[in-house]
Amino acid sequence: MTALEAILREMILESGPISLERYMALALGHPVHGYYRTKVAIGAEGDFITAPEISQMFGELIGLWCVEVWRLMGAPEAFHLVELGPGRGTLMSDALRAARIAPDFLAALDVHLVEISLPLRERQRAALEGRGFKVAWHASVSEIPPGPAIFVANEFFDALPVRHYVHRDGGWRERLVGIDEEGRLTFGLGAAHETAIAASGEPDDILEVGVAALRLMTQLGVRIVTQGGALLAIDYGYGEPARGETLQAVRAHQFVDPLADPGEADLTTHVNFTALARAAKGAGAAVHGPVPQGQFLTRLGIFERAAILERGATPEQAAAINKALDRLAGEGPGFDVATDMARLFKVIAVTQREFDAPPGFEEAARERA
Ligand code: SAH
Repeated sequence: MTALEAILREMILESGPISLERYMALALGHPVHGYYRTKVAIGAEGDFITAPEISQMFGELIGLWCVEVWRLMGAPEAFHLVELGPGRGTLMSDALRAARIAPDFLAALDVHLVEISLPLRERQRAALEGRGFKVAWHASVSEIPPGPAIFVANEFFDALPVRHYVHRDGGWRERLVGIDEEGRLTFGLGAAHETAIAASGEPDDILEVGVAALRLMTQLGVRIVTQGGALLAIDYGYGEPARGETLQAVRAHQFVDPLADPGEADLTTHVNFTALARAAKGAGAAVHGPVPQGQFLTRLGIFERAAILERGATPEQAAAINKALDRLAGEGPGFDVATDMARLFKVIAVTQREFDAPPGFEEAARERA
């Protein structure tokens, strides 16, 4: 039994079952034993791999995206470049290197990293130190000083806790985590119907609601509208309203039971982009996309960037660049449905209302409603 499981069992025995949302929040973020507090999970030797770790091209193109967006903002003399959940700091490091083509952009920015993991903060420090940038770390978005800001979030919203509601006996009941006869953590349902949920449902339908993500999106939308700036969010997710649950636990690149060994596995859900877009619009912001990651990176010029990198590369390096290109943006020889990031991952941008379509979203319908 993990130390966190012992704590959870005690908590449940004392005060009754906890919501899935609380379980996820503790499994990922418990101050001492939470997964993101203790693990350096990302990378080949960790539990999962992310786009910036697959290729430098990902962070570089996002760096150039930020330069363009800063120009669209009217090139403010001072602004914050913020990353939410920066992992090993690879994306930010590659972005800042690519942005050297715009010295006025670099001179205007200070870097803010929102990160709860202390081991990852150390990796980020190592990735960025000695580069001449002012870098500050924060536990939440609320701590970022006022002013215009560009926010980047890759695989961040998927790590925020969700609630599940199951349709049973003519209404929605919240999914809870309790303890079974053998003393193991188990899923159950709250006794009362949630009368605040208006959605209709069939027996056993599941509604997954990312309340934390929606709150954060509202907060970011309000900030962008009132103080200027933009947000770029990239995640495994879906654009159409959908039913059903998407909670998954991953450990050492394998799917595991979400209730087994809390604190040892990464828990994520697929991001509901429709709901996120509604939250940002509700805050008065404009939403661009979602567009599939492959389309976004192709429009930003990932194929051209790969060709340039290949010119100076050995045959082995060129093969690696092509493989990375396939995983991030294409369906070539390296195509694998299970890791088809090009289509499964989606990208949205949030801006002020009177704002040109940012790079990569030019043809995506811009919704003002
Ligand atoms: N963007 C990185 C890492 C993705 S993993 C990449 O693409 O490689 C999720 C990241 O978000 C990790 O850095 C994790 O520590 C951080 N994180 C998760 N939940 C968080 C929260 N509630 N507040 C701040 N950071 C969080």
